[in-house]
Amino acid sequence: MKKTCPKCGRTSYSAYEEGTWICPHCGADMRNAGAESTAITECFWCEERMMKTNNNMYVCPSCGWRY
Ligand SMILES: [Zn+2]
Ligand SMILES: [Zn+2]
Repeated sequence: MKKTCPKCGRTSYSAYEEGTWICPHCGADMRNAGAESTAITECFWCEERMMKTNNNMYVCPSCGWRY
């Protein structure tokens, strides 16, 4: 996973999928920063993490929303 810090604009890498993500450069909380690798990471309806299916769709495991 790769994220760009919304505060200092530098990228950081982490294996963490959930929970707190602190920027190693400035200490900002990057939990809500978007991941660069995927277009959509959270469900529009319930904010659950979207799962990528093998036909390039994203599906919410919580409510079943597809994108
Ligand atoms: Zn930062
Ligand atoms: Zn959902």
